[in-house]
This record gives sequence, C-alpha cells and structure tokens, in this order.
Amino acid sequence: MHESCGVCGVYAPDEDVARLTFFALFALQHRGQESAGIATTDGSNLQVYAKMGLVSQVFSERSLSHLTGDIAIGHNRYSTRGSSRAINVQPVAVGKGSDTIAIAHNGNIINVEHLYDELCDRGYTFKTSPIPEVIANLILSSPEKEWVDRIRYAMHRLQGAYSLTIMTNHNLFAVRGPFGVRPLCLGTVNNGWVVASESCALDHIGASFVREVEPGEIVSISDNGLESYRGGASRRALCIFEYIYFARPDSVIDGRLLYEARQAMGRGLAEEYPIGADLVMGVPDSATAAGVGYAFKSGIPLVEGLIKNRYVGRTFIEPHQRLRDLGVKLKFNPLSHVLDGKRMVVIDDSIVRGTTTPQVVRLLRKAGAKEVHMRICAPPIRYPCFFGVDMATRRELIAARKTVPEIKDFIGADSLGYLSIDGLIKAVALPKDIFCLACFTGNYPLPVQLEMDKLALETTSTGR
Ligand code: SF4
Repeated sequence: MHESCGVCGVYAPDEDVARLTFFALFALQHRGQESAGIATTDGSNLQVYAKMGLVSQVFSERSLSHLTGDIAIGHNRYSTRGSSRAINVQPVAVGKGSDTIAIAHNGNIINVEHLYDELCDRGYTFKTSPIPEVIANLILSSPEKEWVDRIRYAMHRLQGAYSLTIMTNHNLFAVRGPFGVRPLCLGTVNNGWVVASESCALDHIGASFVREVEPGEIVSISDNGLESYRGGASRRALCIFEYIYFARPDSVIDGRLLYEARQAMGRGLAEEYPIGADLVMGVPDSATAAGVGYAFKSGIPLVEGLIKNRYVGRTFIEPHQRLRDLGVKLKFNPLSHVLDGKRMVVIDDSIVRGTTTPQVVRLLRKAGAKEVHMRICAPPIRYPCFFGVDMATRRELIAARKTVPEIKDFIGADSLGYLSIDGLIKAVALPKDIFCLACFTGNYPLPVQLEMDKLALETTSTGR
C-alpha cells in the first residue's frame, strides 16, 4: 500500500527557501519515492526543477543554487494516477506572465476525467500530470479576480481528496480539501511560514508547529502576512491509514503522536487476541511501535526478528522482474539466532493483497520460528480506496474474497487476529466521526458512484 505524495511550501524572505524545502522533502520521502521537485519564485520569475528519483538523487548543490527567491513549494511523488514517467513530475507550472502558478498535489480527484474533457473543450491544453494541471487550469479559468476566489472556484468543482501547495509570484497558498482526507499542517520558521503534509518536516528544518490546516481551508501567505479563508466543511474524513502506516511515527496529527497511537494499537491487539508465546516482534518499520505496545501489554519479551535494509528504494526494484521476485528477501533479513525454536507473535500494519505476509511468515519459519501468530493493526480491508491511496482493486483485496480463517491458512500462520474498528479508534484516541474508514466499511465520505459502478462490473465479470 502506498501513499500518493508529500507536499510542502515555504514563505520566508531572506532565507534559502529552496534548501529549506529540500530538507522538508527529505523528511517526507516516505510519502513518495518516484520523483521530487521544487519550484521557487523571486517575485517575477518562477522556476521549477523536478526529476525522477529520490530527493537525494534529484537535487545537487548546483540545482539548488539556481532555485532562488522568497517562496518555494516542493513535492515528492508516488504515482496513483498517471504513469510513472518524467513528464508527470511535480510541481507543475501553468499559465502565462503574471497569471502563472506552480502547484503541488497530494490525493486524488475522482471527477478529473470529466474536468479534463471540459477544459479541453474550452481550449485548455495539457502537457504533464492530469490532476495538478486540471486543478491549475480550473483556477486560471475562474472568472474571479482575486487568487483566493479563483482557488475557491476550483475547489467547488473538485470532487475528491486533496492537499495542495500553490505558488504565484507573490503568494504561497496551502489548500486542504473539504473532507480533510489528506493531512496538511502549518508552522513558522524564523520570520517566515512553512506548510507540509506532516509535522516531521517542520521538525527537521527547525520550524515550530502552529496548527493543522483545516478541512476546506485556504491559507494565503504574502507580504500581508497570513490570511485564512475557511470553507464550511460538511464532515471530516481524515484517512485512518495516516495513523496506521503512512505518516512517520514522529509526526503529530490532530494532537496525537503517531508513535503513541501505534503503541496503543499493539496494546489493543494484545487485549483482543492474547496468545501464549515466547517473543513478540513488529515488522519494521511501520509495526515497530505496535510491537512495543503488544509486548508491554502482554508481558511477552520484545525482540527484533527481522532487520530491514532501509536503503532498498522502489525506484531500483520495480523495473526488474528478477529482483522483484526476490520479494521480502531484498527488504528483510531474519535473525535466525533469535527466532530459532521460538513461538513468535508478529505484529504488522496491514494485509492488503496478501502477497507480502505469506513471504514474511515463510521467512520467519525458515529462520527457525516454531510458531508464527500474526496480529494486524488495520481491520480487514474489503473495499478499495478512491482517495489517492494506491491499494488494489476490490478483487485483489484478500479480505474481500476470503474469511479471516481462510486468510490465516493462506498466509500460513498459526493464528491471525485483526484489530477491530472500535479497537483502532480507541488506540487513535480521537472521535470516530472525523475519520475515513471506507476501506473497512465501504461507507465512503463522498460519492464515488462512477467508480462503484466500475467495481460492480468488475465483480460481476469475475463471478464474485
Ligand atoms: S478508503 Fe481507506 S485508504 Fe482510502 S482514504 Fe479512506 S481510510 Fe484512507
């Protein structure tokens, strides 16, 4: 399962905004590893530098030194829509002269095809990623005069989940979609401002967290300081997977430190699915904190059973089938001296297609584990995501096709327990109604009728 992008923006006259953005993107690398880019403006010239690869591969001293100005936006991309090609890197710059904007986007726009066709009919042309260009052209096509009104005009037309950073020659805008599915936070750095998908990006550049950008809000930062324009969100629907998996454990969202929420998920699993075992481990890195929580609650000693090779990036693995076939072996090395003859409780964040978990179980057994009891922080995922998470189609989701006992047999575990939805909400310790839980429940926070129709066709054609 992959998140679709990380975005950030810096407004800081007298600072090296490109370098601050570069380090913010470094901190957000986990949200997308396919491409990275920065756009800056000095008030009259808007420059974009974006390429395929990790942040450290894309930028050099030379490229950063050309990105001058007082305002910058940045983007890390994981492609969920549009292919993984250089033409789809972000930020994208659209428009002419003083009517030029640069935009970076995280999320998914459900009605993007419809808007694309409409804009094409009106004579707009597209060069790069459909979604950011559609949003940018919608803004530019607005009959309004003020940028905030033009952005609001576009927001009225967009259906879906999005967090955006937008830059004109004089303004930085941070925009969060009306349901707040994707996170976005605001901080201060020296005499300037910074916005980012996650608070860990603020920490790394020495910025102070101020607050979340609210669902439906447009934050405008310019010579006039910070101005906020709120937009009457009808309901909130923050993606619960930010807490389970996507966001870094040192990030704070809605006042809750992710590390603490994940520990609480592990404690919840120990309460819901106790088992006699010798050792507990979390699958690194996303289930490490939950492993700690399970061990605390159960009193079973915590160990590291798998060592993760942190330097294997998707970029290098994906194109080569032979390497891809090595699967988890490229990623994890089991500690057979620790595992040999032991009854293991193994905590993982989620089971999506069911392709990785059997490999993990086999790896542990081969390294000597006598029993493997899987405990999963996310409840069974039975419905696909339409809001920018690259998950799977419904027929690919193992929990849409099999019962929990069938999944236990399929992955080859001795027992399997999924945290309940109530247990998950208790662990996150925030009100249930602020979350999107659609991939567990099928209750989407906004209409996804078009996609649901496709889903019905797909389900009928496969006989399920
Ligand atoms: S459907 Fe699932 S993955 Fe997608 S936004 Fe909602 S909770 Fe997140």
